[in-house]
Amino acid sequence: MENINWSDLAFGYMKTDYNVRCYYRDGKWGELEVSSSEIINIHMAATCLHYGQESFEGLKAFRGKDGKIRVFRMDENGKRMQASSRGIKMAELPLERFEEAVRKVVKLNERFVPPYESGAALYIRPLMIGLGAQVGVKPAPEYMFMIFVTPVGPYFKGGFQPSKVCIMREYDRAAPQGTGTIKVGGNYAASLVAGEKAKEQGYAAVLYLDPKEKKYLDECGPANFFGIRGNSYITPQSHSILPSITNKSLQQLAEDMGLTVERRPVPVEEIATFDEAAECGTAAVIAPISQIDDLDINKSYVIAKDGKPGSVCEKLYNKLRGIQYGDEPDTYGWVSIID
Ligand SMILES: *Cc1c(COP(=O)(O)O)cnc(C)c1O
Repeated sequence: MENINWSDLAFGYMKTDYNVRCYYRDGKWGELEVSSSEIINIHMAATCLHYGQESFEGLKAFRGKDGKIRVFRMDENGKRMQASSRGIKMAELPLERFEEAVRKVVKLNERFVPPYESGAALYIRPLMIGLGAQVGVKPAPEYMFMIFVTPVGPYFKGGFQPSKVCIMREYDRAAPQGTGTIKVGGNYAASLVAGEKAKEQGYAAVLYLDPKEKKYLDECGPANFFGIRGNSYITPQSHSILPSITNKSLQQLAEDMGLTVERRPVPVEEIATFDEAAECGTAAVIAPISQIDDLDINKSYVIAKDGKPGSVCEKLYNKLRGIQYGDEPDTYGWVSIID
């Protein structure tokens, strides 16, 4: 712990001391196992490798000024992982087992939870895969659930900064009635081509449109989208958006601040009316958007004319981060203290 430069950490992988694992065999989940190996040994005919039976989660642990470690809304991640299991026919992990695993892996790797001042956090990555030798297309007979953790630096190293995103109408990340609402690796594989193309052109992310009509906004590759207009927090609703826990939390905080929350189909052109726009997710909490370029039709929406984040985004960002680090009261019981 002494030798890590916490503030300089990227969003990358660093070896920690332990990971936890749990196997589903013969129709039931076994006990949690602790491992210090980074390697998993699986059969080459496992369904996760061939047919994409894989889901994951992402959450964080934060160290407060008081030295305590807080995990944000882990029950929501546990429930979403169950929904992912239902969506691709994997075994569902009981919520209590999920939470027990999070507590255990954070506790075991306590020395990797960055200090309060660094603005860094411990990223927690739960993962589930289908196991067992099988070539026919059907659900796996066995599953492995595991969690590893890795410290990650502050998302905004040079302060809270807006960036540009783009719309690429030639690409979708999920089908209209497909797997967009669950957190599975396949959606990410499907987003890599557009994502890399966008990065090459200097964009932070792709903002996907609804895959059916291409009329409405969906979400960004790994983050939800919201816009602020006057006193409204506006966020898209569709059958291909992943329900972000950050977005859900921000909607609550926005209401508490007296904003009206609108969750509905949002036509692309409505972007022109937004005072502020942002991506939201666990990684950044809020990543404000300065400009959205609809590349295939050569249309640009400039949102932050002064290149600065909007005041509502900034307020929401500070409020949610404050709750996560224990600086603000946790009125909704979103935070679990690990001890
Ligand atoms: C994980 C994820 C998000 C963000 O969800 P949070 O729970 O807020 O971290 C948004 N969109 C997609 C596609 C995701 O996979």
